[in-house]
Amino acid sequence: MEAHELHVLMVSLPYQGHINPMLRLANLLITSGIHVTMATTEVARHRLSSRNITSTTGNPNPPENPNQELLEFEFFADGLNADEDRDKNLGVLLEEYLPTKGAGNLSDLISDFGKKGRGFSCMIVNCFVPWAVDVAAAHGIPCAMLWVQACALYAIYYRYHKGMGEFPSLDDASNSVELPGLPLLKVQDLPTFLLPSGPPHFKNVVAACIHSLDKIRWVLGSSFHKLEEDVVKSMSHLKPIHPIGPLVPPILLGKLDRISGAGDFWDSEDSCIEWLSTQRPSSVLYISLGSISVLSESETKAVAAALETTKAAFLWVVKKREDGWGRRSGELPEGFLERTKDRGRVVRWCPQDRVLMSGAVGCFLTHCGWNSTLETVAAGVPVIAFPDWTDQPTNAKLLVDVFGMGVRMRRGMDGRLSEEEVERCIFEVTEGPMAMAMKKKAVEWKEAAMKASACGGSSDLVTANFIGEIS
Ligand code: UDP
Repeated sequence: MEAHELHVLMVSLPYQGHINPMLRLANLLITSGIHVTMATTEVARHRLSSRNITSTTGNPNPPENPNQELLEFEFFADGLNADEDRDKNLGVLLEEYLPTKGAGNLSDLISDFGKKGRGFSCMIVNCFVPWAVDVAAAHGIPCAMLWVQACALYAIYYRYHKGMGEFPSLDDASNSVELPGLPLLKVQDLPTFLLPSGPPHFKNVVAACIHSLDKIRWVLGSSFHKLEEDVVKSMSHLKPIHPIGPLVPPILLGKLDRISGAGDFWDSEDSCIEWLSTQRPSSVLYISLGSISVLSESETKAVAAALETTKAAFLWVVKKREDGWGRRSGELPEGFLERTKDRGRVVRWCPQDRVLMSGAVGCFLTHCGWNSTLETVAAGVPVIAFPDWTDQPTNAKLLVDVFGMGVRMRRGMDGRLSEEEVERCIFEVTEGPMAMAMKKKAVEWKEAAMKASACGGSSDLVTANFIGEIS
């Protein structure tokens, strides 16, 4: 079958960190002439349908992408009433409503396409919607999974849920686990979903995902071979994962002529790009905790105080309390904005790809979400790693101890982040004795990321093979 005759259905949860890599994979497919329908739940309708595909290049007149019309969005009801609080009911939503009512609604959507004579050649499901694998099977559609986290996490979850490897008691933070292809992981480096204190519903969703793998033809990873070579190899005799990334905005990979599905849920304050262009190269500290995590009141104060003491230039993304997840966010100290206005900007949401590529950013204080991790790797920007939950502690371990491009910022024995610790980290990454070595490693990874995605690179070959197989 020719590429233009293929129609792929992609299914994702409606979160920014899940939609972004799915859209970036969709972009690779539509660039090859494949028609893609991206399906997610109704809650994302108003956020996504108004945005569709936009330029990530910052070019107000982006080159026409002849394939732009090949991507369309569809939305299905998740089963909860429209007015119910989805954050509060997350457990029941993920474990009960989506796998039953949501799955039924997705199935109806596929049948409706069928009635219009539009079948699907393949489904690509995000790893957090394992129930969609059964929907694909019921319609006789071959199914692939996009693993949207590090391949390291795939290996950890696989071995844990299949009862392989010696996992110690996870109650004791001083315990550690040794797994093939991975550094020695202390309990505190493991994903929080595995810990006794972690939310049980996510742990169950991941377990369902691992158990659904037997019904899946291909597992694709949002990573690139060189970055996670050892762990990818360690899975090759179990259930192989094929890195097809990094699934980051094309601008970060030097593909300035590509349009990508931006899919931002919030309006970004693009004026910060103009401001960054007035700053010295590698002089700005960029602070962002992704779309869900926030700094607490005392952490916000510690970071603000360190910025005042060090006089560092900064761009800081602070979520508004009314932005759903932002309701736990700390308030900036009184007068902070006025006192730092000559060298800092605070925004609600920014175009992170363009920020990291600006040349002005010398360090990224990140929560280590996997998209942000890959984006900073692709931009060659060293990090201060301050993980919050889920896969982030493991990503922080990789960034610092395996990729060698940053330091870990830690809370003290009292569980609080101190101003001195923030200052220590800023010093270590920008001026300390290891700063040059971290920058050098970051630039090496940037080059490796570009090589993997370039024509004939490892990820380009995976893309070509995958398209060949679904054809
Ligand atoms: N992001 C952005 N602007 C911001 C903050 C974040 O565009 O001001 C994007 C970022 O580039 C990344 C995504 O939001 O692609 C966050 O995903 P990640 O996996 O890093 O974290 P999550 O939000 O899932 O915790």
